[in-house]
Amino acid sequence: MKNIIFIAPPAAGKGTQSDLLVKKYGYNHISTGDLLREEVRKQSEIGVEIDNLMKSGQLVSDDIVSNLLKTALESSQGPFILDGYPRDVKQISILNNILNDINKSVDLVIQLDVNYDILVRRVTGRLSCPKCSRSYHRDNLKPKVEWVCDDCGSSLISRTDDNEETFKNRYKTYLDNMEPILDYYNNLDMVKVIEDKRSDVNEVFEEIEKVIL
Ligand code: AMP
Repeated sequence: MKNIIFIAPPAAGKGTQSDLLVKKYGYNHISTGDLLREEVRKQSEIGVEIDNLMKSGQLVSDDIVSNLLKTALESSQGPFILDGYPRDVKQISILNNILNDINKSVDLVIQLDVNYDILVRRVTGRLSCPKCSRSYHRDNLKPKVEWVCDDCGSSLISRTDDNEETFKNRYKTYLDNMEPILDYYNNLDMVKVIEDKRSDVNEVFEEIEKVIL
């Protein structure tokens, strides 16, 4: 099973697809956004520092993110999915150094391509589980019981950064930073593009399965 980096705009479905890969193939889903939100939730020293940055859609400092990432990669067993990292060119070399240190590597970069209007619709209707991070949608991906996570029974929330204004910022940051990252991995011939034209979770998952095995 290949170690993967997911590259996609916010709310493109990385989390949902990762959940499916975790359940079916035993992947470790390492999301830097989730690692940071966990610090905010625990109100750790860095959690307090990064709360406002995250609320406004700005990037958190490399020191903080790379420390959390290294710990998560070191302790993961089996194949991993990196979600939310790297987000700019500097983070590519940080990642390469971390992987080198711990004798692991990335085999494949999956770029999920989703139209802007679909993304806005998703982000403004998204419900998230603060405990296990599973995502739902108010209209087309509802939990079995309203506002309750199917997997762990926690109360669902609407994330503070899941509003249209913050989304515009996050999307712009994504576009500004994505191109050189994709250039880097394209030069290594590591990128597979998967288009989500119809907002169909299962269809996208089938396409992903074709490239990870
Ligand atoms: P995400 O859940 O990936 O959309 O990330 C949510 C927020 O966490 C981002 O808007 C950033 O504030 C922060 N974040 C996540 N990953 C990174 C990263 N690799 N570098 C810096 N900040 C990050």
